[in-house]
Amino acid sequence: MNADLVVVGSGFFGLTVAERCAEELGLDVVVIDRRHHIGGNAYSEPEPTTGIEVHRYGAHLFHTSNERVWEYVNRFTDFTPYVHRVYTNHGGEVFPMPINLGTINQFFRAAHSPQQARDLVAEQAAELGGREPANLDEKAVQLIGRPLYEAFIREYTAKQWQTDPKDLPMEVISRLPVRYTYDNRYFNDTHEGLPAQGYTAWLERLADHPRITVQLETDFFDASQPVSKGSVVGQVPVVYTGPVDRYFDYAEGALTWRTLDFEEEVLPVGDFQGTPVMNYADADVPYTRIHEFRHFHPERDYPTDRTVIMREFSRFAQASDEPYYPVNTEADRARLLTYRDAARGERGVLFGGRLGTYKYLDMHMAIAAALSMVDNTLAPHFRGERALVSGGVDA
Ligand code: FAD
Ligand code: UDP
Repeated sequence: MNADLVVVGSGFFGLTVAERCAEELGLDVVVIDRRHHIGGNAYSEPEPTTGIEVHRYGAHLFHTSNERVWEYVNRFTDFTPYVHRVYTNHGGEVFPMPINLGTINQFFRAAHSPQQARDLVAEQAAELGGREPANLDEKAVQLIGRPLYEAFIREYTAKQWQTDPKDLPMEVISRLPVRYTYDNRYFNDTHEGLPAQGYTAWLERLADHPRITVQLETDFFDASQPVSKGSVVGQVPVVYTGPVDRYFDYAEGALTWRTLDFEEEVLPVGDFQGTPVMNYADADVPYTRIHEFRHFHPERDYPTDRTVIMREFSRFAQASDEPYYPVNTEADRARLLTYRDAARGERGVLFGGRLGTYKYLDMHMAIAAALSMVDNTLAPHFRGERALVSGGVDA
């Protein structure tokens, strides 16, 4: 095969590696993906009857405070000034999310000042007795006190993870800001926006380089394909962004993931919910949230008599499902360590991205990690300075 580097997976991680290696290092890169399209989970396409852009693998909002990433992504797309805001339905009433002074005052039917709200939450978090929280359950009580936790987090988290919150890592909840102001922006980052021509146009520009060849519907583990694990490893350097446990044939057991089911509907109304995302905090509604895609692009000329909504349901992933969220229990973390050791022993193969590192990575984090892999490992290797050995699946 005529390639200096094979990249398995055309998500943001794989395409960023491919683009940098082609453009900066002058390498010929073959990118394979088992799906029929590029872009990994960030892929989007117009719903055919309305033209409304639908994010096929769940709504994707771009945000970053990393200046290098922001400069890099702006080479391939313009961004709209979209700012993400979320609301949540609890007990038949709609509250702003993440929890902020507006949520707190509406919930307690009060007009607390920031300090009064802090004092109230501190009092309601007193059950921890100053102890450091040990799991998601305790972390949430520490952050917002028990009443707000039980209203907005406990049942939503149960639907999302179906795992006892005592067994979930605290980071899951630390992603959500808590604010004692009326600022209800979902993200804290410096830069935010949506790709003006859509995600797929952005991803296509990233892959559009004379030195990059993309082969779709090509599974790395299918030995009948021209580019497969058997034919490539040991012959050509590989950057692998598929699931790390699959690479090693699940030798240490499967890492656990959550998957999502999406129920899409085109409705004969111009506006279904008045906002892009409505969460459903209560256990009696089986889905976690509804996305209404037209609201991501108020600047576009979409039909005014139809809209596209998507209900999101979460469940444990079976082998044939798309892995979306690493569950990351104690047992998973132990397994991951053994896979990292195995990865270190796999000469000529680097593991990266969300699936290759078993880490929940936002897009900007996947892009930042790919840029670092090029700088710190691939560029020195192709300058002839060192062999290509993964520093572990984290590299
Ligand atoms: P992926 O996009 O998963 O790409 C991996 C690719 O590898 C896939 O295309 C897959 O088909 C391919 N592959 C796997 N195995 C093989 C194989 N054997 N052979 C060939 N190809 C293979 N990030 C944000 O910043 N903002 C958000 O709002 C946001 N929302 C999200 C919502 C959901 C539901 C999910 C799941 C993720 C979300 N993310 C979001 C994260 C974002 O999707 C990731 O950061 C990004 O996809 C990471 O890119 P990646 O290249 O590591 O992985
Ligand atoms: N979460 C919650 N209630 C909400 C929103 C989020 O309990 O209304 C919790 C839930 O455990 C979720 C985590 O916060 O998994 C992170 O939320 P985020 O919206 O960042 O998740 P994602 O968009 O990645 O699914």
